[in-house]
Amino acid sequence: MKNAIATLLFLIAFLRLPAQMVIPNDYFRSPLDTVMLLSASFGEIRAGHLHSGIDIKVFEKEGMPVLAVADGFVVRVKVSPVGFGNALYIDHPNGFTSVYGHLQRFSNEIQKYIRKEQYERESFDVDVFPGKDLIRIKKGDTIGYAGNSGTSFGPHLHFELRDTKTERPINPLHFGYNIKDTLKPIISSLIIYPFGDSSSINKNYFPVQYPLEGTDTLHPSLIAEDTLCLAGNIILASKRKI
Ligand SMILES: [Zn+2]
Repeated sequence: MKNAIATLLFLIAFLRLPAQMVIPNDYFRSPLDTVMLLSASFGEIRAGHLHSGIDIKVFEKEGMPVLAVADGFVVRVKVSPVGFGNALYIDHPNGFTSVYGHLQRFSNEIQKYIRKEQYERESFDVDVFPGKDLIRIKKGDTIGYAGNSGTSFGPHLHFELRDTKTERPINPLHFGYNIKDTLKPIISSLIIYPFGDSSSINKNYFPVQYPLEGTDTLHPSLIAEDTLCLAGNIILASKRKI
C-alpha cells in the first residue's frame, strides 16, 4: 500500500499547480472558433501515463481550423503514425508552450516546411525543431486543421499548455477557459489501476472496480468483500455517475 500512496501523491502533485507559478487567465484564446466542449480532461488515467492535456470536441468532423492561442513561434513539428500524430508546439513569450495534437494537416506554410524535411530525411515520421523565429505565429492564426491522426479514436483536438522551461504540462482549465459543464459529479465506484509493468492487483494485471455505498453523501464507503493484494505502483480513480 506504501507504493499506492506514493502514486496517489504523484497524481495529486501532477494535478496541482506548481507553487509560485503565475497563471494568466486572459492571455490565451481558445484554439477553436466554437463552443469549448471536452471529451477528456487533464490528468485522466491512460495506459501507462496520465492525460497531459484536454481533448476538445470537433463534433465528429475533421477539418475544423485550429488557431494559435497567442503570439509565438513554432518550436517543434512532429509527424508520426502513433501518439499525437501530426502535432505542433508553439512557444509564447510569457513562458508557456501550447501543444496541438492529432491534426489532420498543418497550415500551408507549415505543411510546405514539413514536406521539405520529409523529402530530405526520406522519412514520413519526422520530429523537427525549427529555429527560433523561423515560423512566427500571431494569435488567432490558423496553424492547422483538427483531425484524427496518430493514436486517436475519433476526430478531436488534443490541447496542452506547458511550462516552457520544465516542459511540465499544466491543466489548461487554470488559464481562464470557459468550459460548458453543468453536471455535478457523483462518484459511483472506486477503480484501482496497475501502473507499470511490475504492478498487479490480486495477482492480475487488469484494473479492478469496486462499487461504493452511500454515494450521495460526502463519505461513501467501499463495498469490497476481501483483502486487496496490491503490488507495485497503482492508481486510485473514481468513476463518475452521470
Ligand atoms: Zn488527448
